[in-house]
Amino acid sequence: MASFEQLLKRQQAWFQTGESRGYAFRMAQLRKLKQAVVEREAAIITALRADLNKSEHEAYTLEIGPFYTEINFAMKHLKKWMKPKRVKTPSTHLGSRGYVMPEPLGSSLIIAPWNYPFNLTLVPLIGAIAAGNTAVLKPSELSQATTSLIAAIVADSFKPEYIAVVEGGVEASRALLEQPFDHIFFTGGVEVGKSVMAAAAKHLTPVTLELGGKSPCIVHHDASIALAARRIAFGKFLNSGQTCLAPDYLLVHHSVKDELLAAIHQSVTAFYGEAPLEHPDYGAIVTRRHYDRLRAFLADGTAAIGGGTDDKKLRIAPTLLEDVAWDSPIMQEEIFGPILPVFTYDDPREVVAIVNARPKPLALYIFSKDQAVQQLFTGNISFGGGCINDTLLHIGTPYLPFGGVGHSGTGSYHGEQSFRTFSHMKSMLKQTTAFDFPFRYPSAKNGLKFI
Ligand code: NAD
Repeated sequence: MASFEQLLKRQQAWFQTGESRGYAFRMAQLRKLKQAVVEREAAIITALRADLNKSEHEAYTLEIGPFYTEINFAMKHLKKWMKPKRVKTPSTHLGSRGYVMPEPLGSSLIIAPWNYPFNLTLVPLIGAIAAGNTAVLKPSELSQATTSLIAAIVADSFKPEYIAVVEGGVEASRALLEQPFDHIFFTGGVEVGKSVMAAAAKHLTPVTLELGGKSPCIVHHDASIALAARRIAFGKFLNSGQTCLAPDYLLVHHSVKDELLAAIHQSVTAFYGEAPLEHPDYGAIVTRRHYDRLRAFLADGTAAIGGGTDDKKLRIAPTLLEDVAWDSPIMQEEIFGPILPVFTYDDPREVVAIVNARPKPLALYIFSKDQAVQQLFTGNISFGGGCINDTLLHIGTPYLPFGGVGHSGTGSYHGEQSFRTFSHMKSMLKQTTAFDFPFRYPSAKNGLKFI
């Protein structure tokens, strides 16, 4: 506790030197971070295998690859992002110039979860560095191999008054949250997100909350079923469903349900073989507690596909669950595992009502070729972001800000939005001294007319 206070004070004192603000410094740190990762790619892949049985393919495409995309994008655009932006001024302000000038917020705290432990710790850090902040990182205690590696990368690359890693669990996280950081960037569950926001409120610290929730996946009767099945199976069973924006439940038009389920079965077999529990690259559930919670959900319906479990290896087969009641336990919380409840609908407007009756989801996926159907869902349902005719991929482009809304989160990041998240956009008005209009002064006979 005392040491966290000291750590923050050291970072605050160093921040005051102004060293982290310059363009050259920020670029040099981004280069250093990238190089440190390039040199340790093999170790990162090994750590992710140890923590979650992630395959090399998955570790590269979903953890290391997105890190490179983001850091390359930041290095390419940083100079432009840092420049003050001129804005117009109204005629009431004749003679003056307005501009918005980004400045670093100061000392940031980044708290990360275990499911994409490398990506979700280091991608926010890119934003913190690009914006000129110091950072304390608190990766998850449940992905210890990756957490230790991140600690080593940071300790070898940066001095602790600039960037430091705190290894520890809930207690460490809570103690850090008592400190008056200038920004808190939290990725994790909804309930923990509430306590992060409450702790931040004590210091009026702004927060970015990247949370989870139940993301629906809708398949209309005009969708390309084989393609939808493949993309749903990819998005749902990757990392054994432990993905914040994985489809949480399926809403399929009743006329194509059987065809879709058969096609998802085919895709699962193509990805993980006839016996996914035996497949060397099929992801493990992170802890026994999480495994037991998921296994209990299997009793909430009938397995149309899968349903198998492995108590020793903590694996649950890719499962589609039918006959699930809306008020059953599996529909009360984010599933966060490889179990997909299936519901049918007749009219797309039913879907709008069903989804809008629940907290705003992080993602929504629509499979339909009909623009009117797409528009019905995108225009009438609030959700963080999503895809039409795909799953997950909206997270992978630095041109789209990523984040939730309402219960699924506050704020967003990726690309320029990461820079903005860790910056204060300071508004400045530079007034002319060449003349001075008298209208605003109390002595003016005729004031300005605004209408
Ligand atoms: P979590 O909320 O349990 O933990 C996240 C981090 O917070 C960890 O570092 C943990 O040590 C810390 N923490 C846990 N309890 C805490 C408490 N009471 N006070 C302070 N800190 C605490 O989440 P998790 O289980 O690691 O991750 C799963 C959740 O994260 C899911 O809900 C998932 O949807 C969400 N998630 C969201 C995103 C996103 O980008 N929106 C990405 C990945 C995961």
